[in-house]
Amino acid sequence: MSKGIFPVEKLQSIQTPFYYYDTELLRQTLQAITNEAHKHEGFVVHYAIKANANPKILRIIREAGLGADCVSGGEIEASVKAGFASNKIVYAGVGKSDWEINLGLDQDIFCFNVESIPELEVINELAASKGKVAHVAFRLNPNVGAHTHANITTGLAENKFGIAMRDMLTVISEAEKLKNVKFVGLHFHIGSQILDMGDFEALCNRVNELQDELERHRIRVEHINVGGGLGIDYAHPNRVPIPDFKSYFDTYAKKLKLRNGQTLHFELGRAVVAQCGSLITRTLYIKEGATKKFAIVDAGFTDLIRPALYQAYHKIENITSEDPAEAYDVVGPICESTDVFAKQTDLNRTKRGDLLAIRSAGAYGEIMASQYNCRKLPLGYMSDEI
Ligand SMILES: *Cc1c(COP(=O)(O)O)cnc(C)c1O
Repeated sequence: MSKGIFPVEKLQSIQTPFYYYDTELLRQTLQAITNEAHKHEGFVVHYAIKANANPKILRIIREAGLGADCVSGGEIEASVKAGFASNKIVYAGVGKSDWEINLGLDQDIFCFNVESIPELEVINELAASKGKVAHVAFRLNPNVGAHTHANITTGLAENKFGIAMRDMLTVISEAEKLKNVKFVGLHFHIGSQILDMGDFEALCNRVNELQDELERHRIRVEHINVGGGLGIDYAHPNRVPIPDFKSYFDTYAKKLKLRNGQTLHFELGRAVVAQCGSLITRTLYIKEGATKKFAIVDAGFTDLIRPALYQAYHKIENITSEDPAEAYDVVGPICESTDVFAKQTDLNRTKRGDLLAIRSAGAYGEIMASQYNCRKLPLGYMSDEI
């Protein structure tokens, strides 16, 4: 028996809860990305490792030719291990430790995305002691709001990320004084789960203004990095399994005025991996409450924290029942009231032992798992390996 995309019989024999990745969908998604991006000269796509660092997922993404966007030393290690070429690795983050900077220097990564002058000075100092010159881009805070959840906007003046736009010329001239850093680019990232192309357009307009200002000062920038943030359709994982990469890249091609020879870099995370992953969990008990039914499952927010952390919606399907639908609160076993995956959601009538698929969980799922309550970390299984 298989329901939709799920090989139910095979999944039945695996210890729940676990992540199941549809590698064919991942490959199709990567194909769509490279097709659309390569229509435009100078576009370079990186994958934001933080969305999912499962080694098998990373290998497939690296094979598709994407670069790696890292936000920690651990992610640099993971990308090197997965075979990403060091000249395709970029490293951002507001709080880079010395060992992490040293690791980036030892690996000769493509670029450090720098978020403050003190950080620039430390990179310069550490590079000097290795006799190297680090390539740096400045992460500017464009003060562009993304119309998304408050916890995942990053490009507003109030957020901790980036350097204020008014300091752009100061930091660039600071870099020019230092011998062991070379200024090569500007970096931006306005937030996540963005579906309104108008938000990206606003970023393009801002970048154009900043580039005009740089030109007036005869400052040349080799590359522009606009970060990631493209959202996915959590409500319709079956109908819209692949995000609209055409509109996304076309928006940048139309609205952002690249100068001669400049490259435009992207750092997509969620849009690459979210739809290919599902959290598979087994129903432990059906509890009839006073006013509603609870489906108590063996996965908890330790396995997938997005609903508890961001009130995120994930579609849930019972992949072992064809019975008429009924409404359930789907809840986990963790001793916290926020351990709820969905309230009053329709599932085919569910009984103990049924498998539920919590969909669109490939991004910020497995990677954010914790061992709270001394639980075991969920494992990830690939569709072409089970
Ligand atoms: C998180 C992050 C990304 C990826 O964001 P998505 O919304 O998953 O595409 C890209 N760049 C930086 C600097 C990030 O912090």
